[in-house]
Amino acid sequence: MSAIQIPSELIELRQSIRDFIEREVKPAEAKYAQELQETGAIANAEEEKKKIRRKSAEVGFYQLHMSEELGGAGLSYLGQVLIHEEVYRHGSFLAARGGVLASVEGPTPIFRVASEDLRQRYLEPLMRAEKEMCFALTEPEAGSDATQIRTRAEQKNGVYILNGRKHFITHGAEADFAVVFAVTDMEKGARGGITAFIVEKGWPGFEVTRLQRTASTVDLPAELTFDNVEVPASNVLGEEGQGFYAAMQWINGGRLHIAASALGI
Ligand SMILES: Cc1cc2nc3c(=O)[nH]c(=O)nc-3n(C[C@H](O)[C@H](O)[C@H](O)COP(=O)(O)OP(=O)(O)OC[C@H]3O[C@@H](n4cnc5c(N)ncnc54)[C@H](O)[C@@H]3O)c2cc1C
Repeated sequence: MSAIQIPSELIELRQSIRDFIEREVKPAEAKYAQELQETGAIANAEEEKKKIRRKSAEVGFYQLHMSEELGGAGLSYLGQVLIHEEVYRHGSFLAARGGVLASVEGPTPIFRVASEDLRQRYLEPLMRAEKEMCFALTEPEAGSDATQIRTRAEQKNGVYILNGRKHFITHGAEADFAVVFAVTDMEKGARGGITAFIVEKGWPGFEVTRLQRTASTVDLPAELTFDNVEVPASNVLGEEGQGFYAAMQWINGGRLHIAASALGI
């Protein structure tokens, strides 16, 4: 006997996602069957995933995990686990990470602390899968212990000047903007001295300096360098000094998705 009674509406939702994968994803992926078999990847995966993402956003799957206040469906954690498990169950290259459901490139509950202006400029296009982001916390000297980050943001004449280097950033090369965590108060550090900023690709001083290799043959995380990047104060995400707490909340939600995806595989 199952320990958890899964509500019928979640079973229906899971079936709808299954149908979407059969109808929209598998035919698109079939074109690449030989390439996938020979290389384990699809060379223009990003373009194909973008199309899947947009369709998923149109039917409302891509934003299911977001709260109703942020324009999502407010799907429960149980529901989120079920649909992640379902998506990965198909062994589909295009459905997985950032295909049918949002991953780091997509809308994230971290926008709960965003101003109305930031929600309009950045969250809304993310919800429609028209823009993509990346989450830039890790640094060469600060991985497991992210409290040790050294990227600095100093306030001068109404803007923040950002300097530092992030690495292993998933989707770093493709993203339209990055949520970057930087130290605004060295003394306080992670206890009120780390702030989150939205930094757009193309702003002077913001460069993708290299692609990196991990055990994955598919994802190439990126190193991002910030050299005196001017960030307007309006692009502070949440309150100054509260960035580390926001990052940890975001990561905790992501952990659940990753675990559920692993169950599906
Ligand atoms: C594929 C991939 C994608 C990633 N995507 C992102 C992303 O999008 N954004 C982002 O910000 N970061 C990302 N990361 C970075 C990830 O968060 C870090 O790799 C992780 O935090 C570990 O840091 P590290 O690699 O510096 O390892 P380290 O912290 O150097 O750890 C190395 C080893 O030492 C162990 N260790 C560390 N500290 C201790 C301790 N005190 N006691 C005992 N053992 C210890 C660890 O368990 C590990 O086995 C990604 C990493 C990978 C591999």
